[in-house]
Amino acid sequence: MRNSLFFFMLLIAEFSVGQSYEKIHFNSILVDTHNDFLSKAVESQVVFDTDLKGITHSDLKRMRDGGIKVQVFSIFCDDHYGRGSAFRLANQELDSLFAIAARNPRTMQIVFSYKELMQAVKKNKLACLSGVEGGHMIEDNLDYLDSFYRRGVRYMTLSWNNSTSWSTSAMDESRQSFKVTSYGLNDFGKQVVSKMNGMGMIVDVSHIGEKTFSDLMSTTTKPVIASHSSVYALCPVFRNLKDDQIRAIAKNGGVIQVNFYSGFLDSTFSKKMDRFIELHQNEHDSLAALKKPEYWIALYFSKKYKNEFENMRAPFSLLFDHIDYIVKLVGVDYVGLGSDFDGIDSAPAGLNGVEDYPKITEELLKRGYSKKDIEKILGGNFLRVFKANEN
Ligand SMILES: [Zn+2]
Repeated sequence: MRNSLFFFMLLIAEFSVGQSYEKIHFNSILVDTHNDFLSKAVESQVVFDTDLKGITHSDLKRMRDGGIKVQVFSIFCDDHYGRGSAFRLANQELDSLFAIAARNPRTMQIVFSYKELMQAVKKNKLACLSGVEGGHMIEDNLDYLDSFYRRGVRYMTLSWNNSTSWSTSAMDESRQSFKVTSYGLNDFGKQVVSKMNGMGMIVDVSHIGEKTFSDLMSTTTKPVIASHSSVYALCPVFRNLKDDQIRAIAKNGGVIQVNFYSGFLDSTFSKKMDRFIELHQNEHDSLAALKKPEYWIALYFSKKYKNEFENMRAPFSLLFDHIDYIVKLVGVDYVGLGSDFDGIDSAPAGLNGVEDYPKITEELLKRGYSKKDIEKILGGNFLRVFKANEN
């Protein structure tokens, strides 16, 4: 009798958690600040407003099913593009975002301000913003920055893995790639930051080097974001954020949007990946000889060797360890979500795509976060920063 009463109570508890996590989830303004679908679309010829389950992490219907209210689409090209080509490619990606939105006026809206964003959410449309991932896409031209702003770009990552002539990247700084060039933000870089601050385009610190970061923090007059970065103390890879950087972002009133990539969450991932590459060394080397970048090769392998990649996925719980870590270090006002979906070859177990977002709210609730805190993590913190950057 006691046993059956116990199970009955358990059932009630399960039921009430089940009820409330979905209610909290779908009533919150869920913002994801980094999704690479647009560059994936160019590369893999996939169309956002079609059913892509099993092919990509994201499509329009699954984003809505997953409860995403605001999506920042990443505008990305790698260092093969530069002067004369990077700005053009970025605009082609923006064109495709505008075309998708034009085809789906009832379910999507490109927004240009906080006010428009809130109106779109109220009308139950996916509010779409864009962020340029890599300062090389302005091709050292401030007019291009203006042009991006006019087309709705609301953040720019100062550099991707490749440094620009005015800001050094985390990859180059950590590898000491340059012997002559000085590290950090130069005078033009500071002008870029001031111009972004003046326009209301958020500065994104994901991918930038520590010297660039510290120069930025003494230059910016507005709160910054890390659009897709995780915690270095838990997973020491070159582009995760160290404790003093996390503290500096909190002091600045900014927000860290945690990246879902297994390799940025799980400190054992890189060893597993090395072992995998060893097993497929010949194939790896022939792709490398074709000048395919490492991230491209990893994505290619993830599709070809699905079972092996399945076993390398980070545990679901690790994503929340990163969130908890930031909360413990600086408080609940400085953390959010920047999945990097469709730009990563491995997401944590259980997170197969944007449709799985409700599982995140369920786990946050299990970990004891209040409704108010969950709303902040899901999007409230980013929205505060977005508003503060507007003129
Ligand atoms: Zn990135």
